[in-house]
Amino acid sequence: MGFLDQISKTLTQGVDRAKFEADKFQKTTRLQGEVNEFRRQVDMKLMELGQRAYDLQRAGQISAPSITELAAAVDQLRSTLVMKEEELKVSQNDVFEEPMTPAGVAPSQQVPIAYDTPPAAPPAAPPAAGLKACASCGFQMPATAMFCPSCGTRTA
Ligand SMILES: [Zn+2]
Repeated sequence: MGFLDQISKTLTQGVDRAKFEADKFQKTTRLQGEVNEFRRQVDMKLMELGQRAYDLQRAGQISAPSITELAAAVDQLRSTLVMKEEELKVSQNDVFEEPMTPAGVAPSQQVPIAYDTPPAAPPAAPPAAGLKACASCGFQMPATAMFCPSCGTRTA
């Protein structure tokens, strides 16, 4: 009997333990949710405050240098954002160019491809100012380009 009692007791403890863990999980999950919600509300109010401070600074009603600096940083980031959005649009409109077959049956060719020597510029020419060559295919692209427009290799 002692043995069975032992098992029974162990099982009961197991159930208590499981219930405890389940309750604890439920409670911590609820509290974590509340903490996250309050954090979100604090962040939202800070954003509102920031927007308000930005507007007041632009209206000339706040002259604190730190606010001026932050407002300028926001303007800078926004103009970079506009550029990146343009870059994204261009990237989204990129279409895949079929690679040329060795037989030389080239499809319509609008973008010069490196191993097909372009008529005007010799491939060995040093890159013009503001341009860089793709490490993979040699395509000349703006120095600011992050991906080769010809072959898609990442350049940065
Ligand atoms: Zn390339």
